[in-house]
Amino acid sequence: QAKDKGRNAFQFYTSDMNLAVEQRLTVERELRVALKNGQFELYYQPVIDLTTGKMVAAEALVRWNHPTRGLVLPGEFIPAAEDSGLIVPLGKWVLKTACYQARLIQKSMHRKFSVSVNLSARQLNDPSFLTNLDRVLEVTSLPPESLVLEVTESTLMEDSENVIPRLEKLRLKGCSLAIDDFGTGYSSLSYLKRLPINSLKVDRSFVKDLPDDEEDRAITSLIVAMANSLHYKVVVEGVETDQQHRFLSDCGCHFGQGFLYSRPLPADHLMAMLFDDVAP
Ligand code: C2E
Ligand code: MG
Ligand code: MG
Ligand code: MG
Repeated sequence: QAKDKGRNAFQFYTSDMNLAVEQRLTVERELRVALKNGQFELYYQPVIDLTTGKMVAAEALVRWNHPTRGLVLPGEFIPAAEDSGLIVPLGKWVLKTACYQARLIQKSMHRKFSVSVNLSARQLNDPSFLTNLDRVLEVTSLPPESLVLEVTESTLMEDSENVIPRLEKLRLKGCSLAIDDFGTGYSSLSYLKRLPINSLKVDRSFVKDLPDDEEDRAITSLIVAMANSLHYKVVVEGVETDQQHRFLSDCGCHFGQGFLYSRPLPADHLMAMLFDDVAP
């Protein structure tokens, strides 16, 4: 009987697998079309200075305007883009678009403004990555100091041999480097110490149950204290409530991102928000 059950389980498994493979191939095919037809759009989520409440930067987050499914979030297509290698051309599009729009903001508002862009391992390992970055900064005339590149701990762990020299080159160009989803990977503190980073983005899983959860209180205040004494900038992700905001600013955290301040916005909404700040 156990054997029968096992065989049935196996059959379910294979048909699920086929379905998964088919869906993946469909997504890949659609992604190629999407790239060609300009179906991607960048949304921007403000990064807030917790003491002044003002926007100091924004993170570019890609969205897919799917012809039938509407607006699709990155969680649903970034994995397929990574597996298929399409993340390389998609990432190039994200980088140039984010730099171009950030430069437009700087020029039209006469203000400082930085933009963060998420990088995948595949992109960072792409041999043309650094020359492409040079070209993008040149054609958009975005000062490299205005660009923050975000990499997750797991990206860094994937290829730690080659990754550090590449990150050092990014820093030499003048770009900033942030570790995204900090605290969810397995990197050791001694490894972190070797990385040429400027900032840590504390993963929102630690923020979700603040300020009630005692462990999360301990973890976030420890990360913030550590980052401050190592002179890293800390950005806390996923701030949704006033109580979380208060706890984090009491901890000495300087920057935050989250629905409490703003959801990710289309570029024109972001511009309008910045304009409201300066307009009489
Ligand atoms: P991430 O880089 O950690 O981005 C933050 C995610 O948290 C965003 O989800 C954002 O909408 C969400 N978020 C922000 N504030 C809150 C909040 O207060 N509460 C909650 N519940 N969520 C909040 P999104 O836009 O769906 O992006 C998910 C992930 O997809 C990103 O995580 C990033 O890893 C990846 N991603 C997005 N755009 C790109 C891209 O252009 N390239 C690559 N390689 N990855 C990207
Ligand atoms: Mg990010
Ligand atoms: Mg994150
Ligand atoms: Mg994340």
